[in-house]
Amino acid sequence: MWNFVEETARDVFRAYNFQEIRTPIFESTELFARGVGEETDIVAKEMYTWEDRSRKSPLTDAPHEAAADVLGGGQSLTLRPEATAGIVRAYIEHKLWDRGLNKLYCIGPMFRRERPQKGRYRQFYQIDAEIIGPASAGSDSPARDAELLEMLATLLDRLGIAGWNLELNSVGCPNDREAFNQALRKALEPVVGQMCADCQRRAVTNPLRVFDCKVPADQPIIEKLPRISQFLDEPCRRHFDEVQQILTKVGIPFSLNDRLVRGLDYYTRTAFEFTHGALGAQNAILGGGRYDGLSEALGGPPAPGIGFAIGEDRLVMSLPQSAESVLKKPDVYVAALGTGMNGEAARLARELRRENLVVDLGDEGFRLKKSFEAATRAGAKYILIVGENEVKADAFALKNLASGEQVSVPRGELAQKIRA
Ligand code: AMP
Repeated sequence: MWNFVEETARDVFRAYNFQEIRTPIFESTELFARGVGEETDIVAKEMYTWEDRSRKSPLTDAPHEAAADVLGGGQSLTLRPEATAGIVRAYIEHKLWDRGLNKLYCIGPMFRRERPQKGRYRQFYQIDAEIIGPASAGSDSPARDAELLEMLATLLDRLGIAGWNLELNSVGCPNDREAFNQALRKALEPVVGQMCADCQRRAVTNPLRVFDCKVPADQPIIEKLPRISQFLDEPCRRHFDEVQQILTKVGIPFSLNDRLVRGLDYYTRTAFEFTHGALGAQNAILGGGRYDGLSEALGGPPAPGIGFAIGEDRLVMSLPQSAESVLKKPDVYVAALGTGMNGEAARLARELRRENLVVDLGDEGFRLKKSFEAATRAGAKYILIVGENEVKADAFALKNLASGEQVSVPRGELAQKIRA
């Protein structure tokens, strides 16, 4: 099922001209502190971070400064909790802007120290895609946002996942955010005392994140707070309108959710999430948004970008039952019957596998009953009996396990008969 998801994703991404990028599993801690943000839960409590062992000087046994510099000894390293920071680091380090507009994707494990539960793991898998490049290549255009969202809808449809819901918001730009933050602080002042401890902390450090609160008692208060949508400047409003217009034109349904925020300065404009009803509490299959200021925050050139991360574990969990039909069952189970038949069975299996059939193989020590049980358990369509008589006649007993029909088939006709 995982292969089905990844093959489908690669196939869909190819149609939109994305290329794969593979970034390291760990990076310097500093990258995530800056790229994800010190105040986020991810950086504040969830990262697996360690001090890399420093090199000792062979003469003094003291840390060898030069070697540590070169080899990264003594450096703080972190297992990647998400992919975007590493991809943008690679974009900057390898000057990927020389290639104009970059459409990149990455599939692999991410690590967060969280309390494991259904749909939430400490090592989980993300399918991540980013569009990043100089604004002159059109990377800031609302056409890119819509292209990315339409690609996601196509992917979910191709996987047979029905009942997804696309929630959309615009978080504006740093200009809008300043006015909004002021209004938000003012509105929070008289009520924050009645809110949860997390919200009290957020109200001071990053009031926008109050909207992430899931505590039921806080919800009526949050409902009355001002929304970023009331503070968008003209260019941001037009950008967001255009994204919605294109989505409507290509027939992608969405709903607006002005509580959807991302609490970091370089997250700009479009923010989105796809949810799925069947998943329960952890119902977000993927999230993403625009980050026009991220490259600069990491010391790179201006490079507007937009991306998403799909939680692959959750995506696999939301596949419909029908997707199990992609699981390839053996076409035939080759049963060696009697001493000395393993070699003959292996030879037949080799011939059939060369014909691109999926073949499972038994053992001459199995009695016929055990071979039938093994073939049935493997879900094979046919069982092929390889005994002394069959080898002599060069024709083999082939039994359809569903219908029970059994025929004797000459060696040269086996592949064709099984495929039919
Ligand atoms: P985020 O990078 O936090 O925006 O998450 C993107 C997606 O990754 C989410 O929508 C989830 O589907 C998935 N995800 C995040 N954290 C976990 C986790 N600990 N275990 C499984 N999936 C996760």
